[in-house]
Formats: sequence, C-alpha cells, structure tokens
Amino acid sequence: MTLDEIIKEINKAETFVVLAHENPDGDAMGSTLAIANALKNMGKSTIDVLFKEYPAIFNMLPNIDLVKKEASISHYDMAIVLDCPDTKRVSSIYEEYIENAKVIVQFDHHLRNTMFGDYNVVNPVAPACAQILASSFPYMNIEITQDIATCLITGIITDTGGFRFDSTTTETFEFAGWALSKGVNVSKIYKEVLMTKSKSQFEAEKLAVSRLELLENDKITFTYMTKEDEQRLGVKAGELDGIATIGTTIKGVEIAIFAHERDNGFKISFRSNRIDVSDICMLFGGGGHKLAAGCTIDASIEEVKKAVIEETKKHLD
Ligand code: 5GP
Ligand code: MN
Repeated sequence: MTLDEIIKEINKAETFVVLAHENPDGDAMGSTLAIANALKNMGKSTIDVLFKEYPAIFNMLPNIDLVKKEASISHYDMAIVLDCPDTKRVSSIYEEYIENAKVIVQFDHHLRNTMFGDYNVVNPVAPACAQILASSFPYMNIEITQDIATCLITGIITDTGGFRFDSTTTETFEFAGWALSKGVNVSKIYKEVLMTKSKSQFEAEKLAVSRLELLENDKITFTYMTKEDEQRLGVKAGELDGIATIGTTIKGVEIAIFAHERDNGFKISFRSNRIDVSDICMLFGGGGHKLAAGCTIDASIEEVKKAVIEETKKHLD
C-alpha cells in the first residue's frame, strides 16, 4: 500500500524539502515539524522546512530551527507537501522545489485535492493533516517520540478549534490521551496556541468585533481589516487567524465572513457551523473545507462586501 511505498522511498532519499501552505497555521507548522523531526531521527542529511514567515507562538515546537526561509539546494530527493490541496497553496517562491524533486509525497485533508504527488495520502474527513500523520506513522514504523507527538497535537488542537469542530473524531481524543500518557503537556500547548494573544492581536480582534455587522436577518456576519489597520496596530503573522470564527459564536448566525487586505487583494475567510462554505469560495476561485474555506478578491472593500454577501445569501436556506 501507499504507506509502505512511501517509507521505502524515504529510506532511499537523503535530501528533503518539507512544505505546507502559505501563512501557516498550527496544522501546517505541526505537520511539517512532525515530519522533519521524524526525518532527523532517521539521520537524514538535509531537511529543509521552508516558510517565508510563521507565527511566533510556534517557536515552542521541537527543532523549529529546521524552518528556513531559503532552500539549501535546488533539487531535493524528495518533496513532502503537507496540508495543501494543490501545489499553488505553497508560497510561489517554493513551488519549483516540488517540481524539481525526484519524488513528491503529500499528506492532506482538504476537499478536492488534485492528487499532485507521486504518493498521495489524502483523507478529507480527517480534522487535521497532523491527525493523518498520527495514524500513518505507526504503519510506516516511524516512532512517535514525545517531540513528534508535541508537533502533532499542536496541529490537531488548532485545526479542531480545541476539539470543538464537528470534524473531531474518536481518534482525535485517543491520540490526545496517548500524547498525554507520553508526557506531552497537552493543556499547556492548548493554552499557548489557542488561548494566548499578544496586545496587537487583542487590539485587532477588538477592532474586528467593533466593525462586525449582522446582515440578512442576523444570519450572516461581515467584518474586515485593512493593511493600514494592521500596520497601525502592529499585527504580526497569524494574529488575525481567530477573527473569522467570531461571528459563528453568535446564536442564529449561519455564515461568518472576514475580509482581510493583503498585497494581492482581500483574502476572505468563511466559517459556518452547518452550511458548505467551500462551495461559495469555489465560485471566487478559492476552496477549503466544508465549514472553513477562503478565497481572494482583488477589489475595494465595498465591492468585496457586495459581491460576497450577494453570493452568500443564496446559500442560506
Ligand atoms: P483561512 O480562512 O483560515 O485562511 O482558510 C480556511 C481554509 O480554507 C483552509 O483550509 C485553507 O487552506 C482554505 N483556503 C483559504 N483560502 C483559500 C484559497 O484561496 N484557495 C483554496 N483552495 N483554499 C483556501
Ligand atoms: Mn489543516
């Protein structure tokens, strides 16, 4: 089966690039570092985890120094791509390392994965890419050390919203219990990655809440943040990640929308407790999961708001 073949290929390879989606979250960071730690334990000579930038809260992950901005070689024996439905989700500056690699392996949990790897381990119902790794490693004879379990539980905690999303499974809790028994401080990681914010993050959330509008009979929420707001508040990487879900905590709200200005337009995050928002994002060239998806629209905030609300209200039933 695929996992047997992957481990054979890993055994043959010596140089690895490990990639995940741009603007990494806890699942992207935890999954890449879990793989990187496993490769390190196998004594591999070159392990480059590439991110342009990542949230400072993940500096606690074991062997975070394997994360680099620049590749050390141009042609790797293997590219391992995590938490990406297609290669376009990786920073464009790193895409060439996937193309140039002798073997491409991917693990992912997104809908509509393009199966771009030579080996694809894709399970769209898994709540986190890290959970797929947690269940795959034993079949690959990769020992889940305390360090690897720390990385994996970080991905699982962040992508399940602290075990609260519907995607959470029995295996999620079984792995958390097992990690605890291995000495991983699960509650500490939970507090660090989900319940701790910097002053700038708090100020950004305060602004987003103050701007949040309830629309369409209080079934849709909309809020936004401009680049100017971010600069003024000193917002750092990842600090806006919690804003998208705020609207979904209001009783009766079906779809929460957060538009956040980037260099290439407004990145729109959609969240729902029930309705498939990946369908809406697909119409705007994006995608994601059923209840958490995104897209980018290059227009003014007024135009963005009009376009997304027009489309979103058609998806209310
Ligand atoms: P977020 O709103 O947190 O950035 O993204 C939510 C989910 O939607 C994530 O799984 C993310 O990978 C996916 N997503 C966000 N933006 C895009 C996009 O532009 N294209 C695709 N295909 N997926 C996206
Ligand atoms: Mn993920």
